[in-house]
Amino acid sequence: MSRIYHLLDFCRAERHWLLDTIETLVRLESPTTDKAAVDRCGAELSSRLEAIGGRVTRLTRADRGDHLLAEFGCGPSQLLLLGHFDTVWPAGQLERMPFVNTEGRLHGPGIFDMKGGIAIGMLATRALLETDVRSSHRIVMLWTTDEEVGSATSRQAIEEEARRSEAVLVLEPSLPGGALKTSRKGCGQYEMVVRGIAAHAGVDPAKGASAIHELAHQICGLHRIPELAPGISLNVGLIAGGSRPNVVAEEARAVIDARAATRDEMELIDGSIRRQQTHDPRVRLEVSGGFERPPLERSGEVARLYNRAREIAGELGFDLPEGATGGGSDGNFTAAVGVPTLDGLGAVGDGAHALHEHVDVESLPVRAALVAGLLATL
Ligand SMILES: [Zn+2]
Repeated sequence: MSRIYHLLDFCRAERHWLLDTIETLVRLESPTTDKAAVDRCGAELSSRLEAIGGRVTRLTRADRGDHLLAEFGCGPSQLLLLGHFDTVWPAGQLERMPFVNTEGRLHGPGIFDMKGGIAIGMLATRALLETDVRSSHRIVMLWTTDEEVGSATSRQAIEEEARRSEAVLVLEPSLPGGALKTSRKGCGQYEMVVRGIAAHAGVDPAKGASAIHELAHQICGLHRIPELAPGISLNVGLIAGGSRPNVVAEEARAVIDARAATRDEMELIDGSIRRQQTHDPRVRLEVSGGFERPPLERSGEVARLYNRAREIAGELGFDLPEGATGGGSDGNFTAAVGVPTLDGLGAVGDGAHALHEHVDVESLPVRAALVAGLLATL
């Protein structure tokens, strides 16, 4: 029997442990902004990581949940399993989205994005520790608590741990049907503030310079930026401005979400937003913000990792496609520091950030075997 099948047998036999781990993590709701709740989930995760042989370090944070770093084995080189246990759902969401197992699907808040993926990574690691299929690498897991709000308190740890690693496997959810994510757009956020001149709208309109009128022109210009390159998307998602109907608006502002498939596109967007000219010369523009996550580009090393995963999937008897996504993850950071990164290795399912969030039960042990196979053969 091949090594890969040995791993799959182990993961299938541990199905009960896998489902129990997922259920426990999902029931401990962990909205990013609720430190106490996130830490309760983290305490349980930490004790489960220790129970399977991990040496756990808590990276304490004052205003976010503590991140967890767990180390397994003692090989000279390191592979990193990466993910997050914060979710976008508020506490109490479990009542609207109960944990149920029906028609081959497990439902619950955060199950697909990405508590299912954490359990998959843990079972994959167990498979290597508890069978005779060994990995020559030290396996390090980093489970963070602020991915859903941009990873401000975890980015440094993510980049440091990635630099120590030969490769990073990200347990974020797969694309529909189970495809891996071999490219992710980079994500930026900008704020544009327009400063005009206030005036009485009836008595002295010509003395005023309307910030709202100017912002309208700016928005039209901003929405032409995607024409510059195929991987660019841009959305003015929030606007505000003015004080009263009879006052020419002194100030207006817009918040812009921008995405780019490549570094070149990222620079193109940044330059274009900052170089916007005013339509009315009396008005001033102030632009702040920038790209929080650089793009994850499909480099040769990403392709090499993907091909290895596809070979293992082939041995397990399924096809493993790849795809691109406009959403960012912490894999964007690890790829940008030059470490080969493969993303979307977590659960197969659907409905991230949506009420129908679920994972496909049958695929869970298969996914764990796939990750174990990667850890064993990279
Ligand atoms: Zn996620």
